Amino acid sequence: MTIRCRRVLTFRNIPNSFAIERKEFLHRGILGTALAFIGGAFCGTAKAMENLAGNGQRGVEGVLSPTNSHMVGNGFKVMNYFPNGKGFEERMSPFFLLDFNAEVNFPPSDISQGVGVHPHRGIETITFAYKGSVEHHDSKGNHGIINAGDVQWMTAGGGVLHKEYHEQTFNRTGGAFEMLQLWINLPKKHKRVPAKYQSILHSKKPKVTLPKGAGTVHVVAGEYEGVKGIATAYSPIHMYDMHLNAGADVNFQLPANYNSGILVVDGAITVNDTAAPENHYVQLKNEGGAIRIQATRKCILLVLSGEPLNEPYVNYGPFVMNTEEEIHEAIEDYKAGKFGFLAD
Ligand code: MN
Repeated sequence: MTIRCRRVLTFRNIPNSFAIERKEFLHRGILGTALAFIGGAFCGTAKAMENLAGNGQRGVEGVLSPTNSHMVGNGFKVMNYFPNGKGFEERMSPFFLLDFNAEVNFPPSDISQGVGVHPHRGIETITFAYKGSVEHHDSKGNHGIINAGDVQWMTAGGGVLHKEYHEQTFNRTGGAFEMLQLWINLPKKHKRVPAKYQSILHSKKPKVTLPKGAGTVHVVAGEYEGVKGIATAYSPIHMYDMHLNAGADVNFQLPANYNSGILVVDGAITVNDTAAPENHYVQLKNEGGAIRIQATRKCILLVLSGEPLNEPYVNYGPFVMNTEEEIHEAIEDYKAGKFGFLAD
C-alpha cells in the first residue's frame, strides 16, 4: 500500500543518488538520525526534558504532527509518519513504515479503488481497518476481507505479490474509511521466510479489560499484563489496539530498550502530561518508567514497541533488505517471475 511500489517497476536500476544517500544515512547511526530528527520535526522537546526529572515516568521524546496526505493507488489517502525521509525508520526499528489513512468519506464508486498487484520482500505488512472494508489477494493463494477492527498480517518474507482494494460492496456503497498500514522489517536471519498470511478478527484479539471502565486493550502481538497476542512476529514486539473511554487514566510499562511509540488514531490524549491530539504520533524515549495515558476524549490508539534490529538495511520501493546486492537480486527475481503470479 505504498506508492513507492511503482518506482521499482519503472526504474531498471537503482539510481546512484539513492545508493549514496542511503550509505550516508547508514553511517550516521542511531544517535545521529535521532538528533537530526528531533531538530527537524519534533515539537515539545522542552517539555520532554522535564520528564527526565526522576518522577518514575518514561520520557516523551517528541510528538510528531501528521504530514500532508497523499494517495496510494486510488484507494488510500495516507499520511506517512515514517520513514518519511528523516531516518525515523531506524529510530523505530523494527517498525519501518507507518501510513495512516485518517477517516475520510469515499463516495460510491463503480471503479475499483486500491492498489494493484505489486511485490514485497524482506518485511511484514500489517493493515488495520478502523472503518470501512478492504480485500486482500496474494500470489500464495491467500485471500481475506477485513472489516472495522480487524487486522491483516502478511509476511512477505522471501517474496510475494499482493493487491489491496476496497471490498466490492463497500466500494459500491461508499462510506467512512479509516485504515492504517505498518511495515515491520524482518531480521536478517528471517529475511526469506516463506510468505504467510494471518487474518486477525477483532473479536479474536485477546483483550484486557481495564479497571474503572477505562476501556480495553486488544493485544495484537506481544503481551499486555500477561495476556498474549495471537499474531506471530519474527522479532520481539508488543502491539496494542487500545480503546479508551473519555477520562480514562491508564498506566503501563514497555521494555526500556524497545523503540516505542503511540499513534492517536481517534480521540486525544496526554502521555505523561504531554498532549497528543488526534493523528499525532508520540515517540517515547528508550528508558524505563511508567507510561501514563489520560484520554481527553474517547480514543483509539495504536501502541508499538519493539526491540531494535541494529542491522544494516537498504530499502528500495517495496523491498527492505540488508545489502544493495540483495535489492538488485529482488528486482531481478521479480522480473524473472520468481514471486509467483497474481491477476489484477
Ligand atoms: Mn503492499
